[in-house]
Amino acid sequence: MPSKLKESTINNLCKIKEMTSAACAKDGFGCCSNFFCGIAKLEAEALGYTPVAVSDDIPYLGKDGACVIPPEFRPGCSMYVCPEHLEDRKFRRCWEKHRKKILSDPVIKDKITNNQEVNDKLQELINNPELAARLD
Ligand code: SF4
Repeated sequence: MPSKLKESTINNLCKIKEMTSAACAKDGFGCCSNFFCGIAKLEAEALGYTPVAVSDDIPYLGKDGACVIPPEFRPGCSMYVCPEHLEDRKFRRCWEKHRKKILSDPVIKDKITNNQEVNDKLQELINNPELAARLD
């Protein structure tokens, strides 16, 4: 069943992904990894989307360098940006505004942030990063 995120949350996730992607482009998109794909998989499945791996290396990174999971189903990756970019006050204000709205969406709270099962799996992944992207 697809996510029932509010339309405004999906828009905020798309906007914040544009912001973080633009910042990441300056760093050469170095943060994508098997581990973060594993987290994204947990989030996507919690939101009712089943991602399909396209690579053995970084499972959801397409050949064109773009993620194959839509931004609204991988909120952690969409919001993530290296801390140094947050030193730009204008960038940070805008990023925080979108992030606050995203995290206040009841579906995000219910399915991810306050979901014990997801949090347990996340902890399992953190403790055992080789499991990344292979958690059932
Ligand atoms: S899910 Fe997508 S954005 Fe996140 S680490 Fe994997 S390829 Fe990168």
